[in-house]
Amino acid sequence: MLTKDEKFMKEAVKQAKKAYALGEVPIGCVIAYEGKIIARGYNRRTVDKNTLAHAELSAIKKASKKMGDWRLEGCTMYVTLEPCQMCSGAIVQSRIDRVVIGCMNPKAGCAGSILNLLQMAQFNHQVEIEKGILEEECSQMLKLFFKELRQKKKREKEQENK
Ligand SMILES: [Zn+2]
Repeated sequence: MLTKDEKFMKEAVKQAKKAYALGEVPIGCVIAYEGKIIARGYNRRTVDKNTLAHAELSAIKKASKKMGDWRLEGCTMYVTLEPCQMCSGAIVQSRIDRVVIGCMNPKAGCAGSILNLLQMAQFNHQVEIEKGILEEECSQMLKLFFKELRQKKKREKEQENK
């Protein structure tokens, strides 16, 4: 049996797979309110040619529309990879209560890896963090993506040198 957090993380993984299918870094996100998903998002940075097209920002935008408010109090975000500085900032700004993270991102994460923007005592809002939910599934997806990307680049290089 999956726990409630695992069940919602599965939905975030589904979103990440949409990004993967587009050749994007597979990162997915859902936002839940009162036990129901109110918004979904996935990384579209390359296809949209937009720095702001991260999974989390796209889900926050949709959730605000659904709630009719920029405040997302009472909401929980489920995201397959630890949020970056931009998304962590937006999470604090949106007053989301809780963030559930699949795997951590030591190179860019701002929910504890490089910084912990979600829990700075100096800001007016702190976010509860849960880490390592379906961690293996979330990180395998990313590892596979980057492995394939390296192979693709290698093949392209070999073609050039022919
Ligand atoms: Zn981000």
